[in-house]
Parts: sequence; C-alpha cells; structure tokens
Amino acid sequence: MAHEVPDIALNNGVELPSIGLGVFQTPPDETRSAVAAALDTGYRHIDTAAAYGNEREVGEAVHTSKGGRAAVFLETKVWISDYGYDKTLHAFGKSAGKLGVDQIDLLTLHQALPSDFGKTVAAYRALETLLKDGKVRAIGVSNFMVEHLTNLLAEAEIVPAVNQIELHPYFQQPDVQAFNAEHGIVTQAWSPIGGITFYREGKHTSTLEDPVIAKIAESRSKSPAQVMLRWHLQEGRSVIPKSTKPHRIAENFDVFGFELTADEVAAIDGLDTGKRGGPEPDAITLESFGREIPEA
Ligand code: NDP
Repeated sequence: MAHEVPDIALNNGVELPSIGLGVFQTPPDETRSAVAAALDTGYRHIDTAAAYGNEREVGEAVHTSKGGRAAVFLETKVWISDYGYDKTLHAFGKSAGKLGVDQIDLLTLHQALPSDFGKTVAAYRALETLLKDGKVRAIGVSNFMVEHLTNLLAEAEIVPAVNQIELHPYFQQPDVQAFNAEHGIVTQAWSPIGGITFYREGKHTSTLEDPVIAKIAESRSKSPAQVMLRWHLQEGRSVIPKSTKPHRIAENFDVFGFELTADEVAAIDGLDTGKRGGPEPDAITLESFGREIPEA
C-alpha cells in the first residue's frame, strides 16, 4: 500500500519531506538512475553535496522526472574549500548551475572548520544572505557539534533549520540531538541505517546484523533497514538513506505502514556505542580535507 510521506516543518515554516535519497558515494554515472528510481517510487527529497561530484546528474534526473523540479526538495552542501563570504556566495552559483536550478531548497555547510571558525561564520553569513535574497528556501549545517553550534549561534542572525549528523543505532549523539531540539533545529540522520558501520571490525559491526534490530524486524516481517528508518521517523528525525539499487530504494521508502512500540524504540535507543564511524568533526582542516570544487 502506498503511503504519503509526512513532511517535517522547519523553523521557518518550509516543509521538508521526512525521507530523502542520499547520493554520497553514488558514482555520477549511477546517480541519474538512482535518483530516477527514487522519484518513480515517490521520494520527493534528494540529498547531495558539492563534494559528492554528482550534483549535475541529480539535476538531470530531477528535470526529466514526471513531476519535474517543482516536485522535489533539493538539498546540497557547500564544501569547506568554498568557505568565506564571497566564496560561499559563489559556491551557491556552482551548485545551482550544476543542479540546473535558480533556487535550492536547503543549502548547508558540510562541516564546521574549527581551526578557522571565522571562515565558517563568514560562510554562514553568506547562507543568510542567500536566504534573504530568496536564492535558497532554508539554510543549515552538517556535522556541527554542540560547541560549534554554540559558537555559531553567538554570531548568527538566523538559526539553522537543519543539522545533518551521523546518526544510527550505534552512534546517536544524544547531546547534539538535545541541543538541536532545544533550538528548533531539525536533526537529520546521515548513515541512518548505519552505512558507515558496515565495514567495522569487532563486536559491534554492521547495524544490519544487530540481533536486537533483527529480532524486531523478524517479528514484524520487515527488514532491519526498515526498522531503523522507522525508529528515526518515530523520534522525529529526517532520514536520507542511500542506495543505488531500485529494490532497496523502494524498501527504504516503505516504512509508513507500521509502528514500533515504545519498548522497541527504547531497545534501539539502548544500542548506542558512542563510537563514531565518520571523521572526527574537530579534526576537519583545509590542509587534510580541502579540495577544489569545479565550476558549474
Ligand atoms: P546509509 O546508512 O544510507 O547506508 C548506505 C549503505 O547501505 C550502502 O552501502 C547501500 O548499498 C546499503 N543499503 C541501502 N539500503 C539498504 C537496505 N535496505 N538493505 C541493506 N543495505 C542497504 O549510509 P550513507 O553513509 O550512505 O548515508 C546516507 C546519506 O547520508 C549519504 O548518501 C549522504 O547523502 C549523507 N551523508 C552525509 C554525510 C555528511 O558528512 N554530511 C556523511 C555521510 C553520508 P547499495 O547502494 O548497494 O544498496
């Protein structure tokens, strides 16, 4: 049975579809078909980034889809090499050009740059300008920890609408989630089904094979991925699962016809290991992570 995807209202009233397709590590030549499959399935939200190198293919798939550009919420991110007021304004032009749009629905800063926070703030000011000029409908951040958010809010005029962070059963960042909630910032989960954990060694390896999740999945004839996505949605988070496979893209979208019990939600909450899978946000520097983002 098809279910309508509920929206999450952002702090400026803009509606964000709660499930989007992520395209990190989706090669450009597979991006068009993955996005097309998602839009055919009913997805209305795509999450990309300048640093993913596939904005152009995302745009092409959106423009040739049945509903066209108007039916899709487009989210992308400015890479750290483009931070600075003027550079970030220009980065908008690069992303919009590749996506083939005049307006981006949600533009975020991909990372804080703790070693040069002034540059991060200047980049955020550019996002504020883009929002005021109607070039973007909402602005946000990604991988911002409590300290980064606190420092940003001390300087910012506009509270970010979204903070996209690593968040799956094995790494839940309760401190960041609480800070986001307190300030009306929507928590958006990257690696929502634990993609980043799949290659771990040791006791806590893949979330897909976790016995607690597997048991819940089995009892409801759902897959572990569906149970994890349902858990996020019931806790009010936005999710952006990635797949290039049409059957998984459809599976990850089919999460609205069932409800986890409070005990099941609590059991998944209890799986947090506190162990990050992705890079340490404080270790992000231009020296180690900087790279040029091509012009449109
Ligand atoms: P996900 O948790 O979405 O997992 C993706 C992995 O799971 C892929 O290997 C995919 O393989 C596989 N997969 C997808 N669906 C299923 C399923 N139903 N059953 C079994 N396996 C499945 O992790 P990601 O790290 O990709 O994160 C999702 C999105 O979050 C990214 O695409 C990106 O948009 C965003 N992101 C943002 C970051 C940031 O710094 N802001 C960092 C990382 C991600 P396959 O494609 O073969 O199906």
